Amino acid sequence: MQAVYDALIVGAGGAGLWAALELAQAGVKTAVITKLYPTRSHTGAAHGGVCAALGNLEEDHWEWHMFDTIKGGDYLVDQDAAEVLAREAIECVIELEHMGLPFNRTPDGKIDQRRFGGHTRNFGEGPVRRSCFAADRTGHMILQTLYQQCLKAGVVFHDEYQVVDLLFEGGDAGEGGRAAGVVAYRIADGEIFPIRSSAVLLATGGFGRMFRITSNAWSLTGDGIALAWRHGVPMQDMEFFQFHPTGIVGIGILLSEAARGEGGYLLNDSGERFMKRYAPTMMELAPRDMVSRAIYLEVRDGRGIGGKDYVHLDVRHLGRKVIEEKLPDITDFARVYQGVEPITEPVPVQPTAHYAMGGIPTDIFTRVTRDEHNTVVPGLYAAGEAACLSVHGANRLGTNSLVDLLVFGRRAGLQMAREVGGVDLPILARNVEEPVRAELRAIRDRPSGESASRLRRELADVMMDQVGVFRDEPTLSMALPKVRELRERYERVSVQDKGRTFNTDLLEARELGYLLDCAETTVAAALARRESRGAHSREDFPERDDVNFLSHTLAYRGAPGRPTLRYKPVTITRFAPKPRTY
Ligand SMILES: Cc1cc2nc3c(=O)[nH]c(=O)nc-3n(C[C@H](O)[C@H](O)[C@H](O)COP(=O)(O)OP(=O)(O)OC[C@H]3O[C@@H](n4cnc5c(N)ncnc54)[C@H](O)[C@@H]3O)c2cc1C
Repeated sequence: MQAVYDALIVGAGGAGLWAALELAQAGVKTAVITKLYPTRSHTGAAHGGVCAALGNLEEDHWEWHMFDTIKGGDYLVDQDAAEVLAREAIECVIELEHMGLPFNRTPDGKIDQRRFGGHTRNFGEGPVRRSCFAADRTGHMILQTLYQQCLKAGVVFHDEYQVVDLLFEGGDAGEGGRAAGVVAYRIADGEIFPIRSSAVLLATGGFGRMFRITSNAWSLTGDGIALAWRHGVPMQDMEFFQFHPTGIVGIGILLSEAARGEGGYLLNDSGERFMKRYAPTMMELAPRDMVSRAIYLEVRDGRGIGGKDYVHLDVRHLGRKVIEEKLPDITDFARVYQGVEPITEPVPVQPTAHYAMGGIPTDIFTRVTRDEHNTVVPGLYAAGEAACLSVHGANRLGTNSLVDLLVFGRRAGLQMAREVGGVDLPILARNVEEPVRAELRAIRDRPSGESASRLRRELADVMMDQVGVFRDEPTLSMALPKVRELRERYERVSVQDKGRTFNTDLLEARELGYLLDCAETTVAAALARRESRGAHSREDFPERDDVNFLSHTLAYRGAPGRPTLRYKPVTITRFAPKPRTY
């Protein structure tokens, strides 16, 4: 089988679906290929909301949103991208409303809005209500709404096909080649075949599964980011990984920031709202990097609950009505997974690995770029969590990811529709899929070897314990050889399932390879960045250093376990870097 499309979207989360919708509406023959059934994409797990400066409840402006995004990202944000995000957020949310998304309403029928961390009025004076929401099921509603629209517009879906390689013509991506399609693996029967297309969007989501305690779904393994990297595209800003402050203790499932947005408190062992010592103005609504660090410091100083490694999230004072109407799902999580009743008891929480600020470098038109001069890889695009625009810089604000999917998913679709018309469909050589088929066969047919699940556990442990919220040279230097060792052992990985039908064992082994790629660049970039900025906190270099490090890291594939690092300037248009206090 060899399929041909004018445009191919890899990933059916919010970013992929909106791109597909624009393309189909423009009359472009478009397919979405996704390893999960579309509505199972992680976008569906997003609770809290999607922000836009609608000003429905109080004065708000897109310029304030732009500023908050830049300051929240500790000035590593590319400001041209933040401007696009904040401006276009407004029309995207309204367009979604017109597509039928059932937002919560104010008494006079407008879209309701609530507070979220780091979103302020008048350039930092205090919290503002900017997050639009559908109870605590906002992502679910976005996904359902966009999926319905895609079906209506005639988008073709290849569900449960896993992309296992990318194809280029005229050289690799790093050598000036252009995107020519992908190699797909049909999960149902193990069939492997190429799909031709002159425009390919990577919208494959994040890679939180690199860490032991994470809010991310099992499938978030950085596939698109790693595949592009193997073809010469760098990974950008990988040292910035966000830990969300309020995960369920031990398992990491998220209790959304919406709980704090609605007024929830964080308490230490003596019942103190400790955030007043770390962020006196914004308190619990300081950005996530700061709140996660504060929790770690409380625990380290013995003020965790009962001296243990967690604190309390307390929503009791909000009352049953607010909890049941605005936070139904997350309070259910506390009941189901912890046996705690949030209406009457405080909920134990600890930071959980949540969001990748880094990823595939792109420009504001979502075109993938491959160097410090922003040279475009023709025909290749990226959007959503897999991409690094960089709109979130060193730390993303809550609700800014969903809006990133909408704004840049839509831009991807529009840009691809503009560009595909003038390009001939690529010609693929016979058996282009043969190299990856051989790689998969080698794993499957190896009679015995290293267990993928064991390697994955060891990787998650080292990343959590040595490359987590706080870092320093000694721990990072220990992590580096461990990741290299895991990579060497990965060469001997084998699986128990030798069959072709739904061989998830084999696919998970393949995904482990992507996680190793992401881990290798994360550790190398973190070691080289000798400053603290946003989510990257070096205890040995506690200050931000704009003189030496106001730049994006580009990590290229080098010798195994030894990526090559280069740096690219940050785009600054309106807001000069200042100290970041809340
Ligand atoms: C629990 C949780 C709550 C969150 N809450 C919020 C919130 O309230 N507000 C907010 O702004 N952000 C939130 N986020 C972040 C936000 O939801 C994600 O960053 C965003 O949904 C990512 O969307 P995406 O379109 O990039 O990819 P995803 O929705 O992650 O989808 C990835 C897609 O790629 C496909 N895919 C991956 N690899 C392959 C492959 N090899 N072959 C084929 N297909 C592939 C998958 O099948 C899937 O369809 C939350 C995240 C989590 C985990």
